[in-house]
Amino acid sequence: MARCLVPVSSGRLAEVSNVIKIVSTRLCASNEVEKLEDSVRNTRFVPESKEASEELVNKLQHFISKSRRLFILTGAGISTESGIPDYRSEGVGLYARSTNRPVLYSDFVKEAKLRQRYWARNFVGWPTFSVRQPNTSHNVLSEWERRGKIHWLVTQNVDALHFKSGSRRTTELHGSAHRVHCLGCDWTSSRWKMQEMIEGLNPGWHAEEVEMAPDGDVQLSTDQIAGFQVPPCPNCGGILKPQIVFFGDNVARPIVEFVHNRVKESDAFLVIGSSLEVFSGYRFVHAADSQGKPVAILNIGPTRGDKFSNLRLHSRCGDVLRRIKLL
Ligand SMILES: [Zn+2]
Repeated sequence: MARCLVPVSSGRLAEVSNVIKIVSTRLCASNEVEKLEDSVRNTRFVPESKEASEELVNKLQHFISKSRRLFILTGAGISTESGIPDYRSEGVGLYARSTNRPVLYSDFVKEAKLRQRYWARNFVGWPTFSVRQPNTSHNVLSEWERRGKIHWLVTQNVDALHFKSGSRRTTELHGSAHRVHCLGCDWTSSRWKMQEMIEGLNPGWHAEEVEMAPDGDVQLSTDQIAGFQVPPCPNCGGILKPQIVFFGDNVARPIVEFVHNRVKESDAFLVIGSSLEVFSGYRFVHAADSQGKPVAILNIGPTRGDKFSNLRLHSRCGDVLRRIKLL
């Protein structure tokens, strides 16, 4: 829906999200051609899969119906139907399509040149990335929360799509691309404010987006990046970083403990759209299994947690979840 957006340069995420919804609805609701284009574009990053059999969907239905305190873990696979690629899917994930790799936390802190490259790319990718909208799966889960089905949801994604769809009993395990903070004084602002600050420092600078990553990163050439100025923290002059847990960094211990406690309180664990390759999410499935809780996995392709579950569905998240009824 990027083309339907009016410029929104500041304000909290919730306000921005509301503006996006209102404007999108007003300008696009009646435009069937654009809807069709969007639906085609949004399948670009979804791996090939088979439709789930009635038998498997019934088993998942039973799993969900039986649970009174359901814990859900989501990963990049839930957002591919919103037009955001994942990292690892065969053929369509970022690693399969590109040599582009996420920046490591230690490199970001150490190297000014790398931060220049990072922010230039993030600046170009932001207008497209930030206006991505929740898809069927996000909307089903926010509805489940409203109806008391979900005890807690933890997401490995930084795209804020669960919040945009209305989920609130949610922890963003790896932070959010919609916030920026200072490594020196912890000054924090919305990512939109950072966009304004970059524009102010780089009048006339322009580059086209080539390829987007799950965190909004895009590829640019060295020539395109030369001359790009990175704003320092307006409070202390320190290094500004998206409030995202970069590769090579750890999720803060209080957050991990908080999520472990929510897992303990739950009675069933459902993984949606994650290969569980990253330890930060994997540990919670492992914990649930150690506590004897049933685990179900909905993900296109095998996962590192398959050994914990006899119920695995390798189909599109949205196609399966829309077939589950809350009883
Ligand atoms: Zn600062």
